Formats: sequence, structure tokens, C-alpha cells
Amino acid sequence: MTELLTPLLNGDRRALSRAITLIESTRADHREDAITLLSQLPDRQALRIGLSGTPGVGKSTFIEAFGTLLTEKGLKVAVLAVDPSSARSGGSILGDKTRMEQLSRNPNAFIRPSPSRAELGGVARRTREAIRLCEAAGFDVVLIETVGVGQSETLVAEMSDLFILLLAPAGGDELQGVKRGIMEMADLILVNKADGDLLPTARRTVADYAGALRLLRKRPQDPENFPLAHAVSAATGDGLEQAWDEMRHLTGWRRAHGHFDATRARQARYWFQAEVRAGLLSRLDTPEARARLAELGEAVAHGKAAPGVAAAEMLDWLNG
Ligand code: GDP
Repeated sequence: MTELLTPLLNGDRRALSRAITLIESTRADHREDAITLLSQLPDRQALRIGLSGTPGVGKSTFIEAFGTLLTEKGLKVAVLAVDPSSARSGGSILGDKTRMEQLSRNPNAFIRPSPSRAELGGVARRTREAIRLCEAAGFDVVLIETVGVGQSETLVAEMSDLFILLLAPAGGDELQGVKRGIMEMADLILVNKADGDLLPTARRTVADYAGALRLLRKRPQDPENFPLAHAVSAATGDGLEQAWDEMRHLTGWRRAHGHFDATRARQARYWFQAEVRAGLLSRLDTPEARARLAELGEAVAHGKAAPGVAAAEMLDWLNG
């Protein structure tokens, strides 16, 4: 493990890649090495920024422009993804090499596609560990991209210090079907494509969302005026500097008032419990356990055992 740890801590991107591959592996011996590695990481912190938006809203264009802006400020930027479709198809939102072409060649950036796992919780748990590896490797900002599909947004918000919702300019005054729960998670709503012909629509959309945000309950972890909405253009770069200023302001305020650390502590507890639950469930996922479950299921179906009795027998067997 030390042969991976030292270059990782020196910021070597190949070592970081290999370390992420290790934590993503399902092999039992790899998992043991991964746990050893994770337990040796120093406590370095990056700013973790979650970014969500529907396909086509401009996430990769935004990350390319925003990530480049941050590297120009001397910051090291890592980009990770939680792709809900990778849990089914093995496909990946960051797998497409043509996305973020410029950023992927930038020596101060690191881009890693979403892990493919059998279930979304597994994708998220491994991404959460990849964040820790990026922090240990000395990255200053970790962007975690996801698409606006149900549970994946909640999971990404649960591993982020800041959560950003990217929206498209919308004709009419409907709020693009953005669910109230998602609005409540957002620290910053950025209406993208505020350029050219779309500029007036983008401004109107910002006003709609700013109005909707004002109706939400004020959160104790927010300074005055947050959460807020404003317009950006990932294509021209307009508004990106302002967005970064707002993120820094919000982070600074939360740090000063203890909310930053409190949120991280709550999140750490959440992921600990998620790991324990997943570990318990995985014990049902062996050939022997599946056979035993099928056998007891048959007995229950044929009235030879009561469900509760058979379940107790199964649990005894698992503990035995
Ligand atoms: P993603 O699916 O959310 O990653 O979206 P992409 O970044 O691939 O962008 C989808 C489309 O929107 C592409 O054709 C982009 O060129 C375009 N696009 C992205 N950002 C902007 C922007 O700020 N302004 C305009 N006019 N088009 C944009």
C-alpha cells in the first residue's frame, strides 16, 4: 500500500487513478487493501461541490469553463461523477472522452468517470471514498457531477459542502418541474445559457426561481440572501466569477459559524451507517445465502414454516 500512498500524497495523478480503481474493486483482497489505504489518509480538505442538472443543460460545458477558471486561479480541480444509469447499464456520464476536452488535458485537473456498480448506493459510496482520495492527493476543489434524477441528487448533496443546481432558461413561468425537495437542497441555482437570444428568457427564469427560493424556509446554515439564483453562460464564461465568489462567501460564512464542520460530521455519520447497512445486506449476496433463502422461502410458501420463524432461522444461520 505504501507504494501507492506516497505518490498519492504527492499529488501524482496516476497513483490517484490507481487508488480509485482499488477502492472501486469488488474483490475481497482489494477491499482489504482499500480499507488500509483509506485508514492511512491524512486529514486534508478540499471544497466539495455537488452539481446537478438534467442532460443537455450544460453541465460538462460548465465544468470545463468553471474548472478551467479555478485552475487559472492556481487551484487544483478534481471532477467525479455519480451516474445513476451506470448502476444499470455500466454507461457513464464522464466516460465520453470528448466531454471536457480542455480540462482533461490540464495538468492541474483530474477527471474520473462514474464507477459502475450494481446499485446506485454502491456508486455513491465509492464516489464518496474517491473524494477522500482526491483530497489526500492535494486537490483544492472536488466537483461531483450528477444528473437530475431522483435519489442521485440526494446522495450527491450528502457528500458535498455546497450543492449547485444548473437549469436551462425556460419559456413560460412554470418552474421546469423542479421538485421542492431539490430546490431545498440547492445552495445556488445557476440558470445557464444566459447568452444571445436566450438572455431575456434566462433573466426571467432567474427571477422566477429567486421568487420561489424566497418562499422557502430560511436555513440556519445560510447567510443573508442564500440560497440564491443567478444567470451564467458556460459558453461565454459570463457569471462564473460571480458564482465562485458566492460559493466562497457561503463557505466562509458556514466555516465561521460552525455549520461547515457540523455538516461534514453529520455526513460522515450518514456514510458510516450506509456502509454498515450495505455490508449486512452483502452477506445475503453469496451463493450459499441465496440457496438458504430460496430453501426457507419454499418452506414458507408451502406453509411448513411461519415467515417470522423462517426469518429467525435465516438470521441465526447468517450469524453462525
Ligand atoms: P450536459 O448534458 O448537461 O453535460 O450538457 P452539455 O455541456 O453537453 O451541453 C449541451 C448543449 O448545450 C451543447 O450543445 C452545448 O454546446 C450547449 N451549451 C452548454 N452551455 C451553454 C451556454 O452557456 N450557452 C449556450 N448557448 N449553449 C450552451
